[in-house]
Amino acid sequence: MRRSLVIGNWKMHGTRASNSELIAAILAGLNGSQNCDAAVCVPFTAIAEAAEAVAGTSLALGSQNVADADQGAYTGEISASMLTEYACRYALVGHSERRQLYNETNELVAARYEHAIKGGIIPVLCIGETDEQREQNKTFDVIVEQLSAVIDHSGIDSFAKAVIAYEPVWAIGTGKTATPDQAQEVHAFIRKQIATHNSTLADKVQILYGGSVKPDNAVDLFGKNDIDGGLIGGASLQADSFLGIINAA
Ligand code: PEP
Repeated sequence: MRRSLVIGNWKMHGTRASNSELIAAILAGLNGSQNCDAAVCVPFTAIAEAAEAVAGTSLALGSQNVADADQGAYTGEISASMLTEYACRYALVGHSERRQLYNETNELVAARYEHAIKGGIIPVLCIGETDEQREQNKTFDVIVEQLSAVIDHSGIDSFAKAVIAYEPVWAIGTGKTATPDQAQEVHAFIRKQIATHNSTLADKVQILYGGSVKPDNAVDLFGKNDIDGGLIGGASLQADSFLGIINAA
């Protein structure tokens, strides 16, 4: 039985004060009865304060990216060892905004994934097709390419220490959610791809869905066999809606 996981991605939002308030409100609403793991990937400037706030609680901390190197002349990057100093448990890698706006390739994403694992961070590997790719029936090809880059680089066993997030690009921040059946179809495909290499691991790996998840659509999405929780953007910026999604899981 896989445990559910809900991760908030705050992206580049908030101020020092508003981010502290948001963490406090989420913590206040986590009453211990939730049957799933939860984490928030906060902006880098909020990591230190968030680390103090979540210490000893059931809320974990994550980063929105991680470097493909341990240290050195990599302006603008942050390494896994820097993040573990603040007890970061997760790091997103290959979020579609990184792929699209900052030209992160499958190879770079694979290198970031590898460094996360080597540095003791659980990478949340984001994969998914654009609107155009879906219309051209290329969804499964894109998924295979994005997964293969990581498998070739780090090996299939690396998924014992990783999480996958299926995020159709056309559903991110658009209000256009994949239907539970559409999402399940791709989640099952992803699990099958992992199973072609290692079926035990395929049963264990958590595959999250991301793309305009809200409290009112979360129950149906998370009810599907291969959907193990969600990666939440916009709805993670309000404590009530984020907690509603955690409760749905
Ligand atoms: C995301 O950015 O990973 C995401 C899923 O965003 P949203 O929930 O706003 O679609």
